[in-house]
Amino acid sequence: MILLAVDIGGTNHSVALVGEDGAVLEKERRPTDRAGGRRWMLRQLEATCRLLIEKAPERPAACGIGFGGPVDFPKQVIQRSMHVGGWSGFRLAHHMAAVLGLPCVMDNDANTAALGEYAYGAGRGSRSMACLTVSTGVGGGLVLNGEMYRGPRSFAGEFGHTPLVPGGPPCACGSRGCVESVCSGDALGKAARLEARRRPRAWSAVLRQAGGLRAIEAKSVFDAARRGHPAARALVLRYCDDFGRGLAGLIALLDLDCVVLGGGVSMAGNTLFAPLRRAIARHMPPFLPRAWRCLPAALGPNYVLCGAAQLALRYTASAECGVRSAE
Ligand SMILES: [Zn+2]
Repeated sequence: MILLAVDIGGTNHSVALVGEDGAVLEKERRPTDRAGGRRWMLRQLEATCRLLIEKAPERPAACGIGFGGPVDFPKQVIQRSMHVGGWSGFRLAHHMAAVLGLPCVMDNDANTAALGEYAYGAGRGSRSMACLTVSTGVGGGLVLNGEMYRGPRSFAGEFGHTPLVPGGPPCACGSRGCVESVCSGDALGKAARLEARRRPRAWSAVLRQAGGLRAIEAKSVFDAARRGHPAARALVLRYCDDFGRGLAGLIALLDLDCVVLGGGVSMAGNTLFAPLRRAIARHMPPFLPRAWRCLPAALGPNYVLCGAAQLALRYTASAECGVRSAE
């Protein structure tokens, strides 16, 4: 069986043909023109989907869509877009089902990514897992007992706005000290710039390497920590301690057997994962068995596409919410 998968983000959008085993057979990736809004995007999507359907060795069984913004899943309606205008209240799955003559189902991209990693990536073999994208912000999705958990208003898994540090840095959501405002890649970069301004001598090697204070970002901190730079290592340990406290709470609350981290920060490899795993273990209630794993995402930039395919596959196999085509 072949599935059509769509990933709509603020920077790029992709359409792919994906096998039911998660293999990406054909993929088209293009930049998103934010100024073009919804109408521009629909024209692009329709053309690219048609092109891939023509290339497919057999007609795709269904189409799955991962959208970069909150989606009311039962109603299959976009609540809003974080990046591109004109999407609020739009029934994208209905539209695509009518245009392509294929059954369509859509979810937000964080949930879709979680489903992709669960079915085909780092979460394979687990029963309950969280998948977090840690980059500019912190997005998340939950798979519990093998099923996507969305909550009654489709807002479940928003781990990024869980309160973590009392009186911590201000968050984009209007609150303070949320996981996102402390643990995102942007937050780590900001914390490093603050430290470097306060103690320029201790941070001189990092400042030199980055090419100035404003150029210091999360990657500069992890790179310096990997080289053994004391101030950067101390900051990474503090970051992991906060993040680990949050993750320990999440794992304990839901009895997760796996947490998968994707996004730019997860590229730091063991410089991140070794101290982070130690911090999670330290903050975990002692009576809980250490039966959890914390792993980097395995599907790379394809995790939303693979998850969209899995969503479509599950939809064709069940009475789960989605839009049947007119055909
Ligand atoms: Zn927040």
